[in-house]
Amino acid sequence: MKFELMPLPFSETALEPYISSETIRYHYAKHHATYVDKLNILKEGTEFEKKPLEYIIKNARGALFNNAAQVYNHDFYWYGLTHLSHGASVELSDCIERDFGSMQKFKEIFIAKATALFGSGWVWLVLDKDAKLIIKEYSNADNPLKENLTPLLTCDVWEHAYYIDKRNARAEYLENYFKIINWRFVSDNLANALNDPTNSYSQPCNDNSEVCDYIDAMQEYEHTPS
Ligand code: MN
Repeated sequence: MKFELMPLPFSETALEPYISSETIRYHYAKHHATYVDKLNILKEGTEFEKKPLEYIIKNARGALFNNAAQVYNHDFYWYGLTHLSHGASVELSDCIERDFGSMQKFKEIFIAKATALFGSGWVWLVLDKDAKLIIKEYSNADNPLKENLTPLLTCDVWEHAYYIDKRNARAEYLENYFKIINWRFVSDNLANALNDPTNSYSQPCNDNSEVCDYIDAMQEYEHTPS
């Protein structure tokens, strides 16, 4: 049983001018693909060989954890981006207003935390156990699954996500990032979480049919040991 690199939910040029095709090409086909390859090599012959991705993230340590988490984080990152202007649901807008004051305030806090995060890492919008939205930042490959928080959106702030386009200007990358967030994806994740809190709703969902096909295939594949 091998994990496969997810198909990108858009073309390489789709996010221009906010993220260049060159960045997408390196980020997806080199960085993301390498994490998938390394994960497959590292899990071979271990107790994790036939386990689903989330199980590996919650239970493995060291290089195996790092590569598994980076596969999950990048899957989540790509699903959270779009060139289409999908707006947030009323439910999501209400939650953002309730927990951050306004969408503008949410953006400011998110960018401030993402800019301040030292070194490489990820910034997430998550739902906590009290169904409250919070922003969590993590270094390197860490992610909210280990803390049993429900991920809704993530932004990659490793330099490889923006160095080709913006050199060291992380804040400029973050401003562009906010122009291409897939709010429908975030809204769907929130709806899944609130409607079925017993579900393992950390699995990304999207009503883009290609993405849903991928998720169906992924779930089948994860639950069928070979
Ligand atoms: Mn990355």
